[in-house]
Amino acid sequence: MVDSNERRVAIVTGASRGIGAEIARTLARHGKHVVLMSRDQGRLQAVKTEIESQLGAGLATVLACDVSDGAALDEAIGRAYKDLGRVDVLVNNAGITRDNLLLRMSDAEFDEVIRTNLRSAFVACRAALRPMMRAKWGRIINISSVAGLVGNAGQSNYAAAKAGLIGLTKSIAKEMASKNITANVVAPGFIQTDMTEVLPAPVKEMALQATPLKRFGQAGEVAAAVAYLASDEAGFTTGQVLTVDGGMTMC
Ligand code: NAP
Repeated sequence: MVDSNERRVAIVTGASRGIGAEIARTLARHGKHVVLMSRDQGRLQAVKTEIESQLGAGLATVLACDVSDGAALDEAIGRAYKDLGRVDVLVNNAGITRDNLLLRMSDAEFDEVIRTNLRSAFVACRAALRPMMRAKWGRIINISSVAGLVGNAGQSNYAAAKAGLIGLTKSIAKEMASKNITANVVAPGFIQTDMTEVLPAPVKEMALQATPLKRFGQAGEVAAAVAYLASDEAGFTTGQVLTVDGGMTMC
């Protein structure tokens, strides 16, 4: 059990690699106890070991969970609250792509992305808001994408889910403002991770050309934005979309 006067507890979904693992490392460095969620217990354990070897034992908890399974996700967040006594920060970062042109996209490709990228955030927010309301303090950060702001050919499912996250977040921000709970979105551009590694070279080149800073982003640069929004100091910022995209979208 975490002492209530001590570390805030931050749940991070998709924490086994890429942006989520970096968010977890950064929040831990910023003094949070991090709850690491994804389907891959082994990789989560490796992230926990890395965090604890650098910062000290007992600073991370592994909770393997498939976020597309709403009941399992709800139960996992309930477990985190039961075991740690508080849930202060929720970062909905887990995400997948199933790219296809709309005319070729199957119902399964559409549904899988909506269930994993959007419905999971709704379920996790609902579960985490209960302890946050009790504590009269909370930070929700949903990881969207520039695709959710401006669309992307071949990603109608992904863009719909990512745009949906923005509407979800702004609604939560309005519903929860009186409870001292903020809800914000971070929308990354092209970040170097497993997700973008597999893209064909011409797609990467197009993304590079569309990025005024003329480089790809690093996971740590997204994590830094999340750490700010999760901090005590960010208490007057809610319902916002913070793009971390090298200037790709300036809207
Ligand atoms: P990534 O390297 O592919 O990692 C995805 C993470 O999501 C993994 O930890 C994965 O864990 C987890 N995940 C996927 N499906 C899951 C499920 N059903 N249940 C639980 N966990 C699941 O992706 P990334 O690039 O770090 O992206 C992280 C987030 O940023 C995503 O929401 C993505 O859409 C968004 N984003 C990324 C970029 C970019 O350029 N990379 C740009 C904009 C937005 P397991 O496989 O271990 O379950």
